[in-house]
Amino acid sequence: MADSPPLPPDTAPDPRHTGARVWARAGGGVHTVGMQLQLAGEAQRPDRESEDFAAASPEALVLLDGSSSPAGMESGCRHGTAWYVRRLGVHLLARLTDRADRSIAECLADAIVETAALHGGRCDLGHPNTPAATVVAARRHGESLEYLVLGDSLLVLEFTDGPPRVIGDNQRFPDGEELRRQVWSTVPGSAERAALHLEYALAVRAARNRGDGPWIAAASPRAAGHAETGFVRLDGLRALAALTDGASRYTERFGLGSWADALRLLAEAGPAELIAQVRAVERADDRCERWPRGKAYDDASAVYALL
Ligand SMILES: [Zn+2]
Repeated sequence: MADSPPLPPDTAPDPRHTGARVWARAGGGVHTVGMQLQLAGEAQRPDRESEDFAAASPEALVLLDGSSSPAGMESGCRHGTAWYVRRLGVHLLARLTDRADRSIAECLADAIVETAALHGGRCDLGHPNTPAATVVAARRHGESLEYLVLGDSLLVLEFTDGPPRVIGDNQRFPDGEELRRQVWSTVPGSAERAALHLEYALAVRAARNRGDGPWIAAASPRAAGHAETGFVRLDGLRALAALTDGASRYTERFGLGSWADALRLLAEAGPAELIAQVRAVERADDRCERWPRGKAYDDASAVYALL
């Protein structure tokens, strides 16, 4: 990339964040011009590795949110969740870009199998707490955008006409809602919260990827068959955003703006600014009193793509 022109000043990365702006374009013709993309991500705390992952090419994007487990909980894996989301993410991105003959769900299934093999023989992939992640994926496919969402990360589509469409949060766990409310009602940092959080995490792990509970990308390719997938024609689509739940707090939990407002902010100021605004609210309510929530701060990642 040594011969690339420097970024214009207004696209220089904000040094406060680990985000990057990737104004990537592919090809030259009308039908081969790729997406123009911006990505940003920030760990919940500066001293902690982010368990989110986002990556993109002009043709495809992936965004994953690793399922965090309470400290000390065994996983059967010596690699960890941050390792898992990075491997699954890059394998999925490779599949999306070079396997147009496979559906987007098949690409996820293939990437799960590839990532499972990378663990090697010393990890117990049958462990209920094996590393796992929610997934958002999208790619240009002919005249359409093909998408996939599994779990509580979100894909927000902005059309040339009409309101935005939000896809995701499709693996609810109704049996755990009461327990989840109890977790939220406790004092952050208290022993009571830690105990209830552990109880909730165990209940989720006992139920997921079993058939009747929620599905999540982990070690079994079967999960890919439970993702929400579809196609949207590119000629009616202006932009899209992919957000982990740490970033979708902007609209979903904090109500800083509507989805249309979030898309406008992403277009005008970029994903790092959206995350910065979420962080400002979290700092102002770090005891989770005004906005009850499981984590005062969460890993937050966002991808914005102009089509
Ligand atoms: Zn492992």
